[in-house]
Amino acid sequence: MDITVESTVTASQELLAGGEEKRKRAVARVSHDLCTGCGICIKSCPVSCITIVESELNFNGVANIGRQCTGCNICAIDCPWFAIAMLNPDGSLKPPAEYAKQAQRVRGYL
Ligand code: SF4
Ligand code: SF4
Repeated sequence: MDITVESTVTASQELLAGGEEKRKRAVARVSHDLCTGCGICIKSCPVSCITIVESELNFNGVANIGRQCTGCNICAIDCPWFAIAMLNPDGSLKPPAEYAKQAQRVRGYL
């Protein structure tokens, strides 16, 4: 099955919904209208869970977050277009001011 924008719009919400197991960590969410498909977040993600999928919004496609997302915030910090936000397990937006602490723990620097 081809991955389309329609399927990526709900991807983060589905990750939070959890399926068999309720998610306890934050998850990255991509705003497709801001994403340029530059691919920088793909290189940043420590668990390689970001892919670029086809989109009608631009020729490059848009980023799609996979189920392995650990909520480390690194992609949200590195995206030059501020296209990635973090959702808390309850679905609320994680304040960007809280990104740095966890990213520094994972990566060792900002
Ligand atoms: S770094 Fe940002 S703009 Fe580039 S592909 Fe990732 S989400 Fe999109
Ligand atoms: S929050 Fe971390 S694990 Fe999740 S997609 Fe972004 S870089 Fe990858």
